[in-house]
Amino acid sequence: MSAAKATSGNLFANDPAFEVTAQTVSVLPPLPLAGPYDYLVPEGVSVAPGDFVEIPLGRQTQRGVVWGDAKGDVDPAKLREILGVLPTPPMDDVTRKFIDWVSAYTMSPQGAVLRMAMSVPDALEAPKPIFRFTLNPEFDVSGLRMTPPRKRVLAFLADHPPMEQGDILRETGAGASVVKGLVEAGAVQRLMVTPPSPFDAPDLDIPRPDLSAEQNEAADELCARLEQGGFSCTLLDGVTGSGKTEVYFEPVRAALAKGQQVVVLLPEIALSAQWLQRFRDRFGVEPALWHSEVGQARRRDTWRAVADGSAKLVVGARSALFLPYHDLGLIVVDEEHEHAFKQEDGVMYHARDMAVTRAHLGNIPIVLASATPSLETLANVEAGRYQHVQLGSRHGVAVLPSVEIIDIRQDKPQRNRWITPTLKKRLAETFANGEQAMLFLNRRGYAPLTLCRACGHRFQCPNCTAWLVEHRAWGKLQCHHCGYQAKAPDACPSCGAEGKLAPCGPGVERLFEEAVETFPDIRVEVATSDNIMGPKAAAELINRVHNHEVDLLIGTQILAKGYHFPMLTLVGVVDADLGLAGGDLRAAERSYQLLTQVAGRAGRGDRPGTVILQTADPANRVIKAIAAGDRDAFNAVELSQRMTHGMPPHGRLAALIISGKKENEVDEAAWRIGRVAPRGDGLMVLGPAPAPLSLLRGRYRRRFMIRADKGVKMQALIHEWLSKVKTPGSVRVQVDIDPYSFM
Ligand code: ADP
Ligand code: ZN
Repeated sequence: MSAAKATSGNLFANDPAFEVTAQTVSVLPPLPLAGPYDYLVPEGVSVAPGDFVEIPLGRQTQRGVVWGDAKGDVDPAKLREILGVLPTPPMDDVTRKFIDWVSAYTMSPQGAVLRMAMSVPDALEAPKPIFRFTLNPEFDVSGLRMTPPRKRVLAFLADHPPMEQGDILRETGAGASVVKGLVEAGAVQRLMVTPPSPFDAPDLDIPRPDLSAEQNEAADELCARLEQGGFSCTLLDGVTGSGKTEVYFEPVRAALAKGQQVVVLLPEIALSAQWLQRFRDRFGVEPALWHSEVGQARRRDTWRAVADGSAKLVVGARSALFLPYHDLGLIVVDEEHEHAFKQEDGVMYHARDMAVTRAHLGNIPIVLASATPSLETLANVEAGRYQHVQLGSRHGVAVLPSVEIIDIRQDKPQRNRWITPTLKKRLAETFANGEQAMLFLNRRGYAPLTLCRACGHRFQCPNCTAWLVEHRAWGKLQCHHCGYQAKAPDACPSCGAEGKLAPCGPGVERLFEEAVETFPDIRVEVATSDNIMGPKAAAELINRVHNHEVDLLIGTQILAKGYHFPMLTLVGVVDADLGLAGGDLRAAERSYQLLTQVAGRAGRGDRPGTVILQTADPANRVIKAIAAGDRDAFNAVELSQRMTHGMPPHGRLAALIISGKKENEVDEAAWRIGRVAPRGDGLMVLGPAPAPLSLLRGRYRRRFMIRADKGVKMQALIHEWLSKVKTPGSVRVQVDIDPYSFM
């Protein structure tokens, strides 16, 4: 059996060549190169699909999951035996089917997908038991040698339920040997107890806020889908501030009331402090959090509690989709349009799409929530595959902000300044009214490019096709793709001229400088991923803004998230054209979504909000659509353009990325792959072409783009294509189905 066949897994399964006996099973190890392998089950041991087992693999011991019947492709006489069954709740059928499905769809080995579901090896061990101590009621203490510490311990235990040793020692001041002595004498009993789940059951009796008629109707509809049972996918489509969270909390509650588990996916969980607070208010408990910043011990407990069903509500980033749920009853994907749901390395998958699949396989409902749904989701609504529930107005007295466009070619800022006179005037009025403002600029650092005015030298990353970004706060030039850093020099490294290096264009740090100079008396804060690192910093910043310790907040897209600041009435978008260029498939859509979300921060309380868009292209349809608040018109134009070119959601895309450390090897491999590219009706293959980031982290990159009509079986086609070419081990070929990044 060749390795290549094994990795293709059950997508291209062969008929068993050997007679399969009852004592053999296939086991999938969580390794990127492997599919399931056959193993013998030792006599006297019984295993079922989903069991976690230990197996020999090569010279190592591995852990894997019993995937099903033996494939029968290896003579049973040559098979090795399973070493043991782990004390872990088995992985359910739906999770295993889901892993198979994601593997086939993304063209990644099953083991690579399983690895995402087994990301905490410690969790497979039985949790350490804990010991508690209590008086032995049968013991007669009259014969016991009594000391003052012994007396204190006995008196303490007489008054308390079984206690852990640490608590006893702390409360009585006795040493560990005292407890030990009492146990040996028989006066005290040691009890072994299973550790309780770290997650409390949600409180389902907390009264919910009064929902508006519109919210009520939406919530009822979502709950009806849940009651009705089976798969359904519903788009909860409501303008910013309409109360989508309050609405989907109702089906969440209903699923919890049935004893089921619920997972809510958020695009950037680390920044979701406000959301978490609302969850706590509504259900009285901490949800089980799952994201990259959760510490190792907590991850282990969480994984285990999800597997045994005691963690009822999981809130997480995209990876939470791969947890081994015990009884998942509902999935919610909040901000479903967010590109952060697409994983761009390893197994390249889109968590929103995979979540729909998981719901389908598990036969449960899923809710996708957004104020700016993706065109993919809207197309599914139009085709009748997804239900549509709408919230047309903001909650309470809040109204949507009014939008004004400023043409920066007419209303010009001063040289090397970015705030136009009109925006400056509006800011001054806002501060004078005791209100807050926000300036949005999606550029970290001081300046996106540094240039020598003497010779024209530009500072470029040595590892990437990218300019170095000046971060004046740290005195560094940094690459935003690979993290490369260099000290900002005084002299030009190319011509040696001193004092000639000039920043070009604005970043948030530079805008901060301008704001402080323009408004010396107001309190300004910058918020980017450089200074808001992690949930704690985000929560603190949010509190400062909430408590009005900040008048002006300047930041990047991290401010576009669902924050709610009632006194924030003015949002200025410093460069609304940023992101419109670049020409990738979703540039206009993404820009529309981002600007709408940013604009949605204004006027969420009882004071109306204003949004100012500074642009050099006021006729651009994205800008016009936002100004007119006409999402449907924007989407209609965008969809018809996609249709004309057969682009998603009307057609399908895939990308191949060929990369390696040696440019000639990469070019050679790309050329050979290109020579056998598939042809056919409804199919177009572009490339090989240097990727826009043709050098990334020291690797040279070439791309192919495949566009196909809906009916074409993309994965089978690519599989056949790549099987015709052998590439050297030093060249990597990545397949990106439904690409979101074109870099
Ligand atoms: P969206 O997610 O649609 O932007 P949110 O769910 O964040 O909207 O709601 C916006 C604000 O309005 C939040 O502060 C929320 O607590 C409040 N809100 C929404 N609906 C209600 C309600 N029925 N009663 C009280 N407050 C509500
Ligand atoms: Zn770089």
